[in-house]
Amino acid sequence: MRTTSHVIALLGALVTAGACRPSPDAAQSAAPAVENRTVTPTRDEHSYAEPDVVAVTHLALDLALDFDTKTLAGTATLDLNWKNPTATTLVLDSRQLRIGGAEAGDGTTWTPAKVDIAEQDPVLGSKVTVTLGRQAPKVRVRYTTSPDASGLQWLTPAMTLGKKTPFMFSQSQQIHARSWVPLQDTTLVRFTYHAHVTSPKEAMVLMSANNDPTAARDGDYTFAMPQPIPSYLLAIAAGDLVFRPITDRAGVWAEPAMADKAAAEFSDTGRMMDTTEQLYGPYRWDRYDILVLPPSFPYGGMENPRLTFATPTVVTGDKSLVSLIAHELAHSWSGNLVTFATARDAWLNEGVTSYVENRVIEALYGKDRLDMERVIARNELASEFTPANVALQPLAIKPGVLKDPDDNLTSTIYTKGAWFMQFLEERVGRAQFDAFLRGYFDHFAFQSISTVQFVEYAQVHLLDANPGKVSRAEFDAWLNDPGVPATAPQTKSTRFDAVDAARKTWLATGTLASPALTKEWSTHEWVHFVEGMPPTLSPAQLKALDGAYALTGTANAEIAQRWYPLTIRSGYTAARPAIADFLSRIGRRKLVMPTYRALAQTADGLRFAREVFAKARPGLHPITIGSVETALAAKPAS
Ligand SMILES: [Zn+2]
Repeated sequence: MRTTSHVIALLGALVTAGACRPSPDAAQSAAPAVENRTVTPTRDEHSYAEPDVVAVTHLALDLALDFDTKTLAGTATLDLNWKNPTATTLVLDSRQLRIGGAEAGDGTTWTPAKVDIAEQDPVLGSKVTVTLGRQAPKVRVRYTTSPDASGLQWLTPAMTLGKKTPFMFSQSQQIHARSWVPLQDTTLVRFTYHAHVTSPKEAMVLMSANNDPTAARDGDYTFAMPQPIPSYLLAIAAGDLVFRPITDRAGVWAEPAMADKAAAEFSDTGRMMDTTEQLYGPYRWDRYDILVLPPSFPYGGMENPRLTFATPTVVTGDKSLVSLIAHELAHSWSGNLVTFATARDAWLNEGVTSYVENRVIEALYGKDRLDMERVIARNELASEFTPANVALQPLAIKPGVLKDPDDNLTSTIYTKGAWFMQFLEERVGRAQFDAFLRGYFDHFAFQSISTVQFVEYAQVHLLDANPGKVSRAEFDAWLNDPGVPATAPQTKSTRFDAVDAARKTWLATGTLASPALTKEWSTHEWVHFVEGMPPTLSPAQLKALDGAYALTGTANAEIAQRWYPLTIRSGYTAARPAIADFLSRIGRRKLVMPTYRALAQTADGLRFAREVFAKARPGLHPITIGSVETALAAKPAS
């Protein structure tokens, strides 16, 4: 997943991103290696499943998709691998599902099984216990999803680009697959799947499976996913979707009005695949397609295998935000191929992926661009470290800290994780580190592993194999300590030096940089220009910037999400109509939250924010709605 800047609400107030570095905590660097040294865990604290008793190996879905009732209804048939020879109960995860019954059998003959559905836990959902008379190779569950399923969003035609066809999509990570399929919703279980889905004829249905670019749109679709995946990679989407090829194994699905723009924006996808394969071995998932969702998609991207889900907010016309695609593609190695065992090990997915993303960006667009992306990410990381979230700052989160696995989507697992990889690369040398990572992906392919397993593998294949380069204490400090270790390699961006100089001159003298300079600026430079401003400016200064650069009303949401909070803090109400438009058009949580939070600081801002939110709300994803409601529930400071 790509969320970055995401869940600052959970982490305390947003601090203006500055250049301050989090201080290393030397006192803790002698902490023991990752605690609770065990082999692969057999239970996941965020799932009721008991995969050490019985594990699902294959899922067969037969579902009817109904836009009118906002439901998926049908059956899920689970193939079972019984590990305990005497066990006869199957425990599944569910949330908000209406379960009509279950049967056990061999696929031909079925006998009814007893189903008990426990009361719903607010985070984990409802435990489903299926009691069989005796061990059976399959269990079939009949069910209907709730219109409010936490893992599905249903959009009316008005919320789409084309305005004619309704749209729906899933977001299963972290533990929302259980809201649309009764299953063992844990990364400790991998399964293959096939699916039969019926829908209205005007909708094209896609899944994280073998989508056929030439499929006829007839309301009757079948899918097969031959590679075993964990449940959070189960995905479905339906709407007025058309296909545009990029290469013979990559392409874009999008609404008709977005398809050509997206295909042009992502035209480097083939080169990204080639580059990643050269570094880390073959792409193992056959096709790589990108589904561009409506603007309400709450995240940047989701690495659903064979079919990345992506926000349209990265389609800017200049490829300046395509690191998102490099990121989601990189998950085809780190995450989808080698998967974190529990949400506490999420850095193994996001940190390694963000590092691979960086390598692809450097290979395709150069070191200058990578340096800018690193500086922006690390400023954000620094702004997130507060005394209140010390327990979430180590890469290896201790047991019991994460109540809700959705809470671990901080910059730490992405940016500090990638920084750790860069540190290791620079210490042992790029060639040695590339060989290590490639070997790591091969060794653990199609497995879910814990941080402990990563550490044990790295001890042998990285630390021992490169004696004298990295001490175990230095290595462990990244995993166990809050903040960023003193060993962290520093990045400087010469292109940002020019931006800093331009901003400094303007603040001191009111003289703007020459258009010859600023017309060459990419999204990154504009982001840095705005981020480096003082917490407030005078309305006259903001007006001068608007006069020169038209930042109010920018179509680039990365710039908007930084510019609007500055205008709000500065009392520049001229931006309000554009802010209202921005907040009603965009549903990606990371982009809208800084503006909502800035508005919530004053009584007048809060009133305006509540008005805008009331109008925007019907088009927002439940994940974004939850975050906005939290921000607007707080009492303003003045
Ligand atoms: Zn990711």
